[in-house]
Amino acid sequence: MKETINEQKRVLIIEDETKLARFIELELKHEGYKVILAEDGKEGIDKFFDEKPDIVLLDLMLPKLNGIEVCRRIRKESDTPIIMITAKGETMDKIVGLDSGADDYITKPFAIEELFARIRVALRHSSKITNEKNINNILILNDLKIDLSMHSVYYKENKIELTKREYELLVYLVRNKNIVISREQILNKVWGYDYLGETNVVDVYVRYLRTKIDDKYNIKLIHTIRGVGYFVKDND
Ligand code: CA
Repeated sequence: MKETINEQKRVLIIEDETKLARFIELELKHEGYKVILAEDGKEGIDKFFDEKPDIVLLDLMLPKLNGIEVCRRIRKESDTPIIMITAKGETMDKIVGLDSGADDYITKPFAIEELFARIRVALRHSSKITNEKNINNILILNDLKIDLSMHSVYYKENKIELTKREYELLVYLVRNKNIVISREQILNKVWGYDYLGETNVVDVYVRYLRTKIDDKYNIKLIHTIRGVGYFVKDND
């Protein structure tokens, strides 16, 4: 018997094999799900935080950022169920996958019905958990703490007052920690694709953040890679 889906659940598929992704998308839509597609790990993380899907189907081998790393990053901030998609023979990776916080895994090639079943189980399990505990809304980078629900930033116990744009820039950098982000990416993400001003606005805002955080607390938070972009680094 087919289960009815009360509200449309949203599935994020992070998969670089476009044919497979497209196939799963069509099948899921047919079942009444909404589908969001991402073709690499980085896009996957961005879409996860932008779209806040109910569940993630995550391929293991992905360009830019592999499935394990994507999984870890999502897990740091969210309990959204993640089903790893692994290829045959990636047995070791399966174990690592579950260790990184995935809820389940499925091996390619799989029967679509099996995937549906696993999605239903994962969703049922997650709605139980969400009802039971609060979602962790804190981002932490070394001594820096960002409370996403309150939009506030702390260095150790000190609250840092930021403008909306400074805050968004900082959140974007911290979410993508240890990855160099180009000015263009920052512009698109923080200022929006329709932004028509100068690219150096990014440098200006990085300077504002440095004044408020790096200089004030005598730390090196935002690193510059000349001609490429910026990144923040996890110390451990
Ligand atoms: Ca792949």
